Formats: sequence, C-alpha cells, structure tokens
Amino acid sequence: MDRSEEEWSRLGAQLPAWVEISREMTAFGRPASYIPELAGAPAHALGIAVMEPSGRIVAAGDCGLRFTMQSISKVFTLLLALMDNGEEGVFRKVGMEPTGDDFNSMLKLELVEPGIPFNPLINAGAIAISSLIAGATPAEKTQRIFAFLRRLAGDDTIVGDEAVYASESATAFRNRSLAYFLKDNRVLEDKDDVEEVLDVYFRHCSALATCRHIARMGLVLALGGVDPATGEQLVPRRFVQIAKTFMFSCGMYNASGEFAIRVGLPAKSGVAGGIMTLVPGRYGIGVVGPALNGKGNSTAGVHLLEKLSREFDWSLF
Ligand code: GLU
Repeated sequence: MDRSEEEWSRLGAQLPAWVEISREMTAFGRPASYIPELAGAPAHALGIAVMEPSGRIVAAGDCGLRFTMQSISKVFTLLLALMDNGEEGVFRKVGMEPTGDDFNSMLKLELVEPGIPFNPLINAGAIAISSLIAGATPAEKTQRIFAFLRRLAGDDTIVGDEAVYASESATAFRNRSLAYFLKDNRVLEDKDDVEEVLDVYFRHCSALATCRHIARMGLVLALGGVDPATGEQLVPRRFVQIAKTFMFSCGMYNASGEFAIRVGLPAKSGVAGGIMTLVPGRYGIGVVGPALNGKGNSTAGVHLLEKLSREFDWSLF
C-alpha cells in the first residue's frame, strides 16, 4: 500500500472515534443566536466528510446534518465576482488584508482611507461582493450564485433555507448599517439598491448544505478549480489561488492566525457551525458542529481538524 492509500484507510478506520473525542468540545460552545433561527441547531452535533479526487468519501458523526453555509458561501461569491469582473474590478471594492476586528465590524470603514472593506470575507466585504455579481435583478443574481454552488457541490438540488433567510433579513440591523455605510462611501454605487444587494447576500448565506457538499466544493478548490468528476476547469486557477489565500489569512475570523498555526490549512467557517477546508491536491473537507467558541468557530470542528492535521502532518508549513 502506498503512503496515501495507507493514510486513507487509517482515516476511514479512525475517524468515527476521533469525532467522538472531539464531540466533547461542543460543551464549551453554543450555537449562534444573533440570527434567531440558528439558535435551535443541535448543540452537540459534530460531523465530517473528507473527499478525495477519485470521488471516494470518508464520513463520520452527524455528516447528514443540513446547515446553512453562511460565511462559507462568501468564498464562492468571491469566485463568481472575480469571474464576472476580473481582479481589477473586485479589488477596486475590497482590499486584501485581515482586519483584526470582528467579522461584522464597521470600525475600519470609517477609520482607514479609502473606506473600502479590508477583505471579501468580512461582512462588509461580502456585501460589496454581492453587488458585483452579474444579473439584471436580485433574483437573477441569486439564481446564478446557487447554480454555481450546485455545480461545485455536484448536487442540483441545493436550495436556501427560507426560515433562516427570513430570520436574518428581519434582524440584520448591523449588516444593514454596514451596507448603508458602504453606499455612503460609494463602494455601493448609484445603481446598487442597498436592500437588493442585502437580499442577495442573505440569500446566499442561507444556502443549505451537508458536510459532503462542503467537502466536494473544497475539493474543487484543492484541485485548483477543476471538477474532480469531469476534469473540467470550473474556475480559473488564479481566482482559486486568490480565494484560498483569503481563506488562509482571514477565513477563520479573528482566529485565522491561531488556526494557521494549529492546523495550517486554508479554511472558511460560518456561523451555522460549518467549516470548509482542504489539503491541496488531495482532499476537500467539510465539517459541521454548531456549537461555536468565542471567536465564532465550531469548537469541536476546530478540535477535530487540529487532530487530523497533526496526525497526518497536513500543515502547509
Ligand atoms: N449571514 C451571516 C451574517 O451576515 C454570516 C456571518 C458568518 O457566517 O460569519 O451575519
């Protein structure tokens, strides 16, 4: 057996036990509640799926749980915006730096010239990115985003969670403030209706997925934009490189530096408890554990990924 085959069979054999060990970490977190509909998520759930280029999957724990992608979807709207507008078009509206502030912070928009969001993975940046998605109406933009998600996930039944969408839209006072601030700073232009831009944003955040979907999407990124089943280049390699770099520097909120040290892989988490990560050229990985730590990341999910990275020496460094 070669080294990678040996790793794969060890992963399959050990994963259920490792999930149960990490599951204990759910006691140290709780589901997000600022979007009221997310508060009822199963607090002790933990699931994972790992997919390799041949299409084989190893999954364990609550990998059948459906959850909303939330901020994980921002990686894909970024890719779509890059495909629609090119690098120059995107980087006129968002920067390339981590903020060190909370994901929904308004601080630097006012403090630092030229008043564009620091990066596309914080809320202000992702709202700006939503305005860059091509389409005549918010419905058309949303439809294009979902078509893209379905293509990468290899499942044309992916839909949004209406209840989570409605719950976020009804309570998103902070995201509304950010969006109006962006309008004042002219990041959102005259043609950009603030409520319409927000609608696209809430819709893509509410996209429902399982760990398997997230693993497959992560695998496309791990393969530099290539569909593992067809070999088709779905996303230009350069844009995937940009997205993965942002995942590495800003994907885990204010714990991105810590995650880089502990796990050493590009990753993006969302407030519903999902994490998408990948081992370049080898695996896409989807994790869900709705109990979040103080930084907004899945307590058990991060614990499990640290275990795997150490066990198999996955850190990029
Ligand atoms: N829809 C969420 C929000 O804007 C996404 C946040 C996240 O997952 O980090 O608050």
